[in-house]
Amino acid sequence: MNTPATPSGITVLGSTGSIGVNTLDVIARHPERFSVTALTANTRVDALAEQCIRFQPRYAVMTDDDAAARLRDKLAQQAPDVEVLAGHDSLVRVAGLPEVEHVMAAIVGAAGLLPTLEAANAGKRVLLANKEALVMSGALFMEAVRRNRATLLPVDSEHNAIFQCLPDNYRAGEAPRGVRRIVLTASGGPFRDLPIGQLHDVTPEQACAHPNWDMGRKISVDSATMMNKGLEVIEAGWLFGLGADRIRVVLHPQSLVHSLVEYDDGSMLAQMGNPDMRVPISHVLGWPDRISSGAAGLDLLEHGLLQFTAPDDARFPCLSLAVAALETGGTAPAILNAANEIAVAAFLERRIPFTAIHSIIEETLGRATVHPAETLQTILDDDALARALASELIMQTRVTVAQ
Ligand code: NAD
Ligand code: MG
Repeated sequence: MNTPATPSGITVLGSTGSIGVNTLDVIARHPERFSVTALTANTRVDALAEQCIRFQPRYAVMTDDDAAARLRDKLAQQAPDVEVLAGHDSLVRVAGLPEVEHVMAAIVGAAGLLPTLEAANAGKRVLLANKEALVMSGALFMEAVRRNRATLLPVDSEHNAIFQCLPDNYRAGEAPRGVRRIVLTASGGPFRDLPIGQLHDVTPEQACAHPNWDMGRKISVDSATMMNKGLEVIEAGWLFGLGADRIRVVLHPQSLVHSLVEYDDGSMLAQMGNPDMRVPISHVLGWPDRISSGAAGLDLLEHGLLQFTAPDDARFPCLSLAVAALETGGTAPAILNAANEIAVAAFLERRIPFTAIHSIIEETLGRATVHPAETLQTILDDDALARALASELIMQTRVTVAQ
């Protein structure tokens, strides 16, 4: 393994989240390879303060001035050299700093779009967890990667698995040669076997209790509706240059096979491992080297059984909505994503039942006008419009919500 002579600079966008924390866990194992240049968080001042004291980054960014002032106070003694910044412009700035080589894009949702795009425009090694950014702006994003010779490495476990099953010289965005199709695996989330009639009454706590993965709340709800897999189909379409007809989704409750590539000769290559995000995170951090992650190896005999079944459309209508949005193209995926973010937030705040999530998204898509996604402004406008439409639909939803 070639260890770089000097550690390379890394910005971790969303460092206090589930992916951010796992990223810092892997980085801490390789002080000779990485030096943390910037860490960012939305509201969790205490968590970011602890990370700053431990990793002593050059910059720390909070979303608003008030949180930044509180962070500055907390760092005055133990990390006085950290420059604390505030606001969305600062997020964008730390994604494009000249001293930064790697950017871990781990903000959740549309809030991550502009900083992630900045990393691509600045020609960085973009370690992409923030799938919503790619779902919203796929064509523009991939063009920014190509034009600026950025390196795009997928963190999402399924896409990382597929990337690992493609040839060494494969680069994201190219159509892979000799590939018939790719197969994305999905656990089916916590409600895979619940009688459909009971879905209406499930609570946010039940939706966030994923059987195999420990993740942020938004992606946990997305896993329960399978919108997560829908977003991942769109993400895979852009990353691997494939149409929806060459991307298959199968349920695999054990979450040990993280995805597969089916080649023209009938070979199928799969990547396996324990469900621990430090595996794909260390893969993209070390690429093309392999570095230790802290994850335990997979003991096949302990598990014994691997199952694969077809997802049920009636149980998981969000999956078909996402596939349809990919086929429609233009701003349809951005509209789908925006409506989903609003509906999931409303479900988490107990303002709508679980089963209203898909109907809000479907109705928003029905009412919104899809445009060609040629400029960032068009995408942002349609995102804002979809949020307004979805919020209006939620206000009209007069239902009893399970407490
Ligand atoms: P999380 O909710 O745990 O963390 C989100 C991070 O983003 C936090 O650091 C938060 O401070 C920051 N953030 C949230 N809103 C923000 C805003 N408006 N402005 C600036 N920063 C903001 O989420 P997560 O589970 O770590 O997921 C992060 C991304 O990675 C998501 O796009 C998710 O789909 C993707 N992903 C996560 C996992 C996983 O296992 N958690 C797996 C695959 C992909
Ligand atoms: Mg995934």
